[in-house]
Amino acid sequence: MQVEDYIKAGKIAAEVRENVRKKNWIGITLEDICEEVENEILKRGAKLAFPVNTSLNEVAAHYTAEPNDQKTVTDTDLIKIDLGAQINGYIADTAVTVCYDPQYDSLIQAAEDALQNAISIIKIGVKSSDVGRTIEKTVKQLGFKPIANLSGHSLAQYTIHAGKSIPNIWSIGSFSFKGDVAYACEPFVTTEKGMGFVREGKIKNIFALGSRKRTKNDEADKLQEYIWTNFNMLPFALRWLVKDWEEKKARELLEILIKKKVVHAYPILVEANGQRVSQAEHTFIPTETGVTVTTTF
Ligand code: MN
Ligand code: MN
Repeated sequence: MQVEDYIKAGKIAAEVRENVRKKNWIGITLEDICEEVENEILKRGAKLAFPVNTSLNEVAAHYTAEPNDQKTVTDTDLIKIDLGAQINGYIADTAVTVCYDPQYDSLIQAAEDALQNAISIIKIGVKSSDVGRTIEKTVKQLGFKPIANLSGHSLAQYTIHAGKSIPNIWSIGSFSFKGDVAYACEPFVTTEKGMGFVREGKIKNIFALGSRKRTKNDEADKLQEYIWTNFNMLPFALRWLVKDWEEKKARELLEILIKKKVVHAYPILVEANGQRVSQAEHTFIPTETGVTVTTTF
């Protein structure tokens, strides 16, 4: 494990996240938000670990802007901006929720409190089920519901979900935190009217290579090679392809790669009762006495 690279990526992601938190995004298009946040990561010397997610209101996760996405943020929208930086494939994954309507401050604060309480109990040897219990308890005491079927995750080089899940509720089946692994903890919180879980939506605009094999279509194979060279196995967006590919062609070839199961498409995840969802996220490495939060400065 390359601790220095995790720390470097984390510092960059944290700086960008705090600028995102402070900025007023009202009236700005989702495309401009994604492009600006991604550029902030790149100009600090990291690469992108995944397309910036700009998930609005009841969309909990996995929405990134389409090319020319003209949807703008309004003064009543709640937006989760989830960003990832990587150095040599070592990833910092962090998120912030912003909303300019004070009515939702407590929903946002509940995710932040749950994250802080979770991180405060983690050290080498702590069980993931205890973290889930802490998140659930914190969220419920504040009068909200955790999203049960979204979870944090272990990380590995060029891998965002490396096999271990950190639950946001108490759950059976558990692992113990290790000191040579990085993890992301990410409580998602909804209102008491929410179902407390997400379902898949129709929109799919985040993709990743799932396997590498020839498709008998030279152009599709060329796109596959381009994806591997530029993004490795990490997620990417159509926005990133249209820099070098004509949009219509890119969509067509991507469709072929999805059908051949070379590329996986991730659907957006929506609160099952249509209620708003907040999120907070940090990446950390457990130690004997606590954790090193990488996404801080
Ligand atoms: Mn994230
Ligand atoms: Mn994550």
